[in-house]
Amino acid sequence: MTNVSRATFDEVMVPNYSPLKIIPVKGEGAKLWDADGNEYIDFAGGIAVNALGHCHPELVGALKQQADKLWHLSNVFTNEPALELAQKLVDATFADKVFFTNSGGESNEAAFKLARKYASENFGSDKNEIISFKQSFHGRTLFTVSVGGQEKYTQGFEPLPQGITHLEFNNIDMLEKAVTDKTCAIVLEPIQGEGGIIPASKEFMSKVRELCDKFDAVMILDEIQTGMGRTGELFAYMHTDVAPDVLTSAKALGGGFPIGAMLAKEKFAAALKVGTHGSTYGGNALACAVGSKAFDIINDASVLNGVKDKRALYETKLQMINEKYSIFDDIRGEGLLIGAALKEEYLGRARDFMVASLEQNLMILMAGPSVIRFAPSLLVTEAEIEQGMAAFEKAVAKVVA
Ligand SMILES: *Cc1c(COP(=O)(O)O)cnc(C)c1O
Repeated sequence: MTNVSRATFDEVMVPNYSPLKIIPVKGEGAKLWDADGNEYIDFAGGIAVNALGHCHPELVGALKQQADKLWHLSNVFTNEPALELAQKLVDATFADKVFFTNSGGESNEAAFKLARKYASENFGSDKNEIISFKQSFHGRTLFTVSVGGQEKYTQGFEPLPQGITHLEFNNIDMLEKAVTDKTCAIVLEPIQGEGGIIPASKEFMSKVRELCDKFDAVMILDEIQTGMGRTGELFAYMHTDVAPDVLTSAKALGGGFPIGAMLAKEKFAAALKVGTHGSTYGGNALACAVGSKAFDIINDASVLNGVKDKRALYETKLQMINEKYSIFDDIRGEGLLIGAALKEEYLGRARDFMVASLEQNLMILMAGPSVIRFAPSLLVTEAEIEQGMAAFEKAVAKVVA
């Protein structure tokens, strides 16, 4: 019936991606199927998006119900699903106010603009420096890619937005020296995701908090990958005794439906007065109805504790594989954001493991060229973890052979 194939991609799509050769057509929970009916275990989860797996019946129900009622209004009106989801986010977190977007990059764009606006209104336009960290990832718009700490993503897109400083992640001394009265924001991921699953130390997070308080800078946590249950808490900052001023969310927030959000304390949110920022689709009723249902399912003690138990099983399996094949230096991350860093002999070869896994009907991810990443559904079952890790072991055996 279908007249498209992977080859169609090369004909009609901009060549910025290089997708793997199969095209999944159907999903259910942590499983996917391609057009030929081949079954796959999905430990990639749409890059930490499908937190409840594929086509969770309650999400499908919420989407269908809202689809029959109301899709979109624009920001000339508000809508009930947006208000409900915002209320839930405020009740469950440090935040007083919410701004909805459609993606992670847009959520960070809003956060960075808020920080600049807050600083210029309260302290003057000289206070505009954003401090960020090497290897960080904050999105692909020109502002967010400039704040992000990976030069390969800005090359050729110059001139770039100014007033951004990149420091070494987890380096407290360097941070103390860099923050001044000119700093308007410090932004970090609690666990750097795309950068290789590198957690911020608790001391580093506390130091960021302390310096933001001292210098009236906005502490922005990018929880686009770590949030919505991924680490076994609703948001990763909840593992620490530090709360941010502004937090960005997306990915798992809609469980696969595009939505993002910026959460903020009242004092900072106030900087975005009427007319200062906006988004046509942000707060879309369909997206918020799905997000609201996803929130209810994820923000539940048994789901969040389940994440911690499942992580333990992944770690056990990874260690067993490592004892046999000796390929990892480090297994890190938190909850179901798992990074397995390859040993020196295998540096740069994460993609080989990903391709070999696909041949064993298993989908996994990489986080940079030398780290294998797993970001499965938070509802993945023990049996699926066993089955998937058995497939992964076979893939490893092939790569090292
Ligand atoms: C994925 C991601 C983004 C970008 O999100 P998009 O929805 O692709 O714009 C930003 N920050 C972090 C930490 C991410 O993992």
